Amino acid sequence: MIEAQTVFSADLLIDGSGRAPVRDPYLVVAEGRILEVGAGRPPDALRERAKFFAMPGATIIPGLVDAHVHLALAMHLPDWAAIDADPARLAFLAARHAQEALRAGITTVADCGARHGVTIALREAIAQGWVEGPRVWACGEWLTVTNGHGYFWTRRGFDSAEELRKGVREMVWQGADFIKIMASGGTTQGAKTNRRRAQYSAEELRVAVEDAHRLNKRVICHVNATEAMRHCLKAGVDVVEHCNWLGAQEGTIEYDHDLAREGGRRGLCAGINIEQVFKPLSQNDGYAQDWGDLTRWDLMRRMQDVGVNIFVDTDAAGKDYDALPRMMARMVEEGKAEAAETLAMATLVPARALGLSDEIGSLEKGKQADMVFLPANPLIDITALTRPLAVVKGGCIMVGKHAFPDANRP
Ligand SMILES: [Zn+2]
Repeated sequence: MIEAQTVFSADLLIDGSGRAPVRDPYLVVAEGRILEVGAGRPPDALRERAKFFAMPGATIIPGLVDAHVHLALAMHLPDWAAIDADPARLAFLAARHAQEALRAGITTVADCGARHGVTIALREAIAQGWVEGPRVWACGEWLTVTNGHGYFWTRRGFDSAEELRKGVREMVWQGADFIKIMASGGTTQGAKTNRRRAQYSAEELRVAVEDAHRLNKRVICHVNATEAMRHCLKAGVDVVEHCNWLGAQEGTIEYDHDLAREGGRRGLCAGINIEQVFKPLSQNDGYAQDWGDLTRWDLMRRMQDVGVNIFVDTDAAGKDYDALPRMMARMVEEGKAEAAETLAMATLVPARALGLSDEIGSLEKGKQADMVFLPANPLIDITALTRPLAVVKGGCIMVGKHAFPDANRP
């Protein structure tokens, strides 16, 4: 029996692998995966058995990956306390936020912490087709210390190596895809935590990483402090988030070049939330005067120069689940990044960070058919990313079916 096939075509394909764009491409999809990528007129044999979806004038890119969101956190809502107390309402809210991401062309999100395991349930609901949304890669709850960063939400402290290890096992039992640990303090509880200091020793983190890896789960850490970055690298953490290199002294940035180089050598992945990335550090993270007008973006470039795999994400919580494409446009316009590298930083690099690059992140044979149809070539006009015409996930047109003029023409 010949399996049902779908053929998608457009004017241009940027497959996200780093190869040159393909003119007049077609992608043959079966059971959600890419069977073949070709150019020119598809073989006649295909015409007899496949459904065709052609969008003349459009450019196809891989679906975007936002590797740091919080689908079930929305503290700005006036009735947040009531929503937060009710797992069912939290789950509906998370589903709504997931849809916002999908409409913006984001076909995979990593949910970096939600209460009651609601984003694990949402992952399953989306995979079953009960609700529409991107692929969800979920960690369950984040792990932090008592009174640590994020404790305000989970109200659970993991205060030793043993407790961290138990936390890892519990999250995996609940269905977590990866483990999220708050390796330094943060800003969520005002002055109660210290974002300039590590929350865990390297030894404590190492125990958690060891156990997570035993269970084939990657570890993503929240890292504001340089001290925490040091501990994460010693412990073999897979992904570090934020990376603003705060020194222990108030008002200092302590970028450690040797540490960054060590990260590059070990294939470390680092996520940068680019919300405030172009503000001078002196306004944002405070600052030693000798940093002048340098921004978090400049720090990111230094890490990248020594081989750290940098990707961009939003840390969206309560809003801006559709912000990634807008931020990518700013990276090109304000950060003077190359459009192609910007695209990689929101597709293949985060897919690698999540351990999913065999499945998603580029449009190559065997991978999931997750793609976005854009009105222009984003390598020439990056703002095209903010105007998706159609979004396809696993070979299904999730958004913009009517944008295909010849839908279903045999
Ligand atoms: Zn976060």
